[in-house]
Amino acid sequence: METLEFQAEARQLLQLMVHSIYSNKDIFLRELISNASDALDKLRLATLQDGLEADTSDLHIEIEADAEARTLTVRDNGIGMTHEEVVDLIGTIAKSGTADLLAKLKEAKESPELIGQFGVGFYSTFMVADKVSLVTRKAGTEGHGTTWESSGEGTYTIDDAPDAPVGTSVTVHLRPKDEEDRLFDYADEWKIKEIVKRYSDFISFPIRLVSADKPAETLNSMKALWARPRSEVSDDEYHQFYRHISHDWSDPLEIINMKAEGTFEYEALLFLPSRAPHDLFQRDARRGLQLYVKRVFIMDDSKELIPDYLRFVKGVVDAADLSLNISREILQQDRHIQMIRRRLVKKVLSTIKDLLTNNREKYDTFWREFGRALKEGLLNDPDNQKAILDVATFASTASTDEPTTLAAYVERMKEGQEEIYYLTGESRSQVENSPHMEAFQAQGYEVLILTDPVDEIWVEAVPDYDGKKLQSIARGNVDLPKDKEEPEPEGDFGPLLGFLKEKLDENVKEVRLSHRLTTSAACLVSDADDITPTLEKMYRAMGQ
Ligand code: ADP
Ligand code: MG
Repeated sequence: METLEFQAEARQLLQLMVHSIYSNKDIFLRELISNASDALDKLRLATLQDGLEADTSDLHIEIEADAEARTLTVRDNGIGMTHEEVVDLIGTIAKSGTADLLAKLKEAKESPELIGQFGVGFYSTFMVADKVSLVTRKAGTEGHGTTWESSGEGTYTIDDAPDAPVGTSVTVHLRPKDEEDRLFDYADEWKIKEIVKRYSDFISFPIRLVSADKPAETLNSMKALWARPRSEVSDDEYHQFYRHISHDWSDPLEIINMKAEGTFEYEALLFLPSRAPHDLFQRDARRGLQLYVKRVFIMDDSKELIPDYLRFVKGVVDAADLSLNISREILQQDRHIQMIRRRLVKKVLSTIKDLLTNNREKYDTFWREFGRALKEGLLNDPDNQKAILDVATFASTASTDEPTTLAAYVERMKEGQEEIYYLTGESRSQVENSPHMEAFQAQGYEVLILTDPVDEIWVEAVPDYDGKKLQSIARGNVDLPKDKEEPEPEGDFGPLLGFLKEKLDENVKEVRLSHRLTTSAACLVSDADDITPTLEKMYRAMGQ
């Protein structure tokens, strides 16, 4: 037997669990069932795709409670783990962004939202247990299995388990009753049934309650949620399913059902989250949808099903006509997958449009959380550029709190105004106080205030909206309609302009009079084809 130490981050997370910052402890059982379900999916997939020889005729999950010993065991006959996998998967937290998240968690003690972003999974058992033991054997391996045991206090033990069957069994040793101020016990059968029904009904393998003196009883309906008509599924069921696939604690903002019949059949159930994950802008973040073929789980994180700029969308696609042993490489070229992807994009964009028209509050939440990601699509998905512009909103000088659509901007354009004016910058106040703004403000022209880094880039890629050119007011001759008619005569200013030009020779191309300014004495503008100041700064920061 060996005694090993938890990795530092794992130890911190365990501390949080032991002192249980979740108010809802029931979820530990959901997490164990979720892991068991994943393990069964993996075993089935290994037999389909890697030619693993294993009996998959009765894949199932068992729950066994012992009221006297006060233990609860969740058992699966899934893929199992090797000795090394137990150490790597259970003893460490390999997820990216963990350190960041733990730091944030420390600041904001009672914050289920933060934890939920992160799928605490297996460790949540330590909310109710003073000891957890696990016995596992990996499918398709020779030799013995492995046991793992810990009280969550910094170390765990690991040992050989000569007779372990294939699969994994987790036994939770419940804390003494008098330490808990609640009326039920997690070893109570009615409580187990309630939790399974509430959190895990849709799990596609039977979850059986087994006991010595009664025949086993299946607790879940196993119905694939995406295959059921929306009217028959409660919001709560959708929410539980969303948690299972997303590891997000909060409820989704919007649920999208799709069903295509005919030559190529598929069903999809998509979710728009209500909060951006902490790693939305990290390269290594998990993204993509779950792919099923005829109710059989094929893979997680299928990036081929959804473009990168919609990476926040969670959900499931169940395609009827794909091969069960389709690989990621084939997926990339598959025509059907590309077609599904196009349809999903259209559907997501039309759903956002619906929110914009019919539920502005939800839309605003969506845009606040995901607008920055969605705008990447203006660059990467030219086919849908117009559709994305239609659902985008921007801060503008017209209102301090309500962002505007481009359509609404165009409607408010002044007589004689032909272009959509914008100014980019780092913050609203910086943009508002820019000298470039003065004349536009003074004459009542509305200017869009673009402060996301991606704004600098997409404005270059989008030539116009509704035939109106997007025009930076920091560039070239964006003279107001009035200016265009009569250039300001130099008059008495000739000598001053000459003097300034000479003094600033190295730094400017030209010094001229302008109507642009009302109170400031001077401002810098760039040529029409020069890059904007912010972009210039960005390039410089990138070392270009
Ligand atoms: P997550 O499920 O989000 O990956 P968990 O903490 O729930 O995180 O589990 C960590 C890892 O341990 C899983 O990814 C899986 O590889 C492994 N694991 C947990 N439970 C089981 C199980 N019943 N069978 C096989 N592997 C498991
Ligand atoms: Mg898990």
